[in-house]
Amino acid sequence: MLEPEFTTPEDSLPTEISFGEFLESHPPNQLARIIKIEGWYSIPGQVGNFQGIIAPEIQLHCSHDLCNGVRFFRCTTKPASLIRGKFVNDYLTYRCWNCQKTEKVFSVAVRWDKLLEGPILVSGDAIKFGEIPPFGPPTPARLIKLIGPDRDAFLSGRRCENQGLGIGAFVYYRRVVENQKVRILQEIRKVAIKVGAKSAAIKILEDAEKEVQFTKAMEMAKPGLPESLLIDGHNPLGLLHSALSEGVHAMSDEECLRLAGSIRVVLGELSERIAQALKDEVELKNALTTLMNRNKS
Ligand SMILES: [Zn+2]
Repeated sequence: MLEPEFTTPEDSLPTEISFGEFLESHPPNQLARIIKIEGWYSIPGQVGNFQGIIAPEIQLHCSHDLCNGVRFFRCTTKPASLIRGKFVNDYLTYRCWNCQKTEKVFSVAVRWDKLLEGPILVSGDAIKFGEIPPFGPPTPARLIKLIGPDRDAFLSGRRCENQGLGIGAFVYYRRVVENQKVRILQEIRKVAIKVGAKSAAIKILEDAEKEVQFTKAMEMAKPGLPESLLIDGHNPLGLLHSALSEGVHAMSDEECLRLAGSIRVVLGELSERIAQALKDEVELKNALTTLMNRNKS
């Protein structure tokens, strides 16, 4: 039987991750170096008697109505026995441990090659052939709303990212953010008005909306961003600006993939915060109305 050869381009080393991270967040068709694989062995305590992986508990998004968020998933199938230095194909079925309804199936090839500690810790290589439901977190509805007419371009970027096509993903996301610059800035301005920002800050955002050149517009808008839209203390417009000002020609596919992922995460967080800020305002108004009506009666 032919031994499949999984390689990575000579100039890029495979990513070093744990087996759990590999399942949770590594895209299909890309070799990963698994730094620590916890295993089971047939004769307890006997060095070199490693048999196979103990499938780790992982965290994935569960889309079931009962969950609708990140939940713990556990493997319900016993992973195959492994052979040192040889890829073994396997299917791993995981189930959401919260609702017990959602399942995720991974098709993988794993090869261990190095004993780390006693018989139970090894390192090796792994690659995913695919997974069902497909790889990648779902795209939040609020993000889709924020980018509006460029939904399809965004989802094409998402497909590229899921398959590890970094340059493709980066270029799609850049097009989306550049095309929807005005829309994004308008939403930010709505929040600024709601939170009672100073007129100077609102003017900054208005001027940035009118600026045609994207990087300049982002640079201009930065100081006008309401504090409630900061992401861990960072200005999302600054983050997008620095990610998008890199020239695609100067970057490797892997670098593009990392940047594309960051752009998607920042956009997702920003859309979430915008929606939250606008919603909070509605809730506050309703609460005030209720209280004021109570005082009247
Ligand atoms: Zn669930």
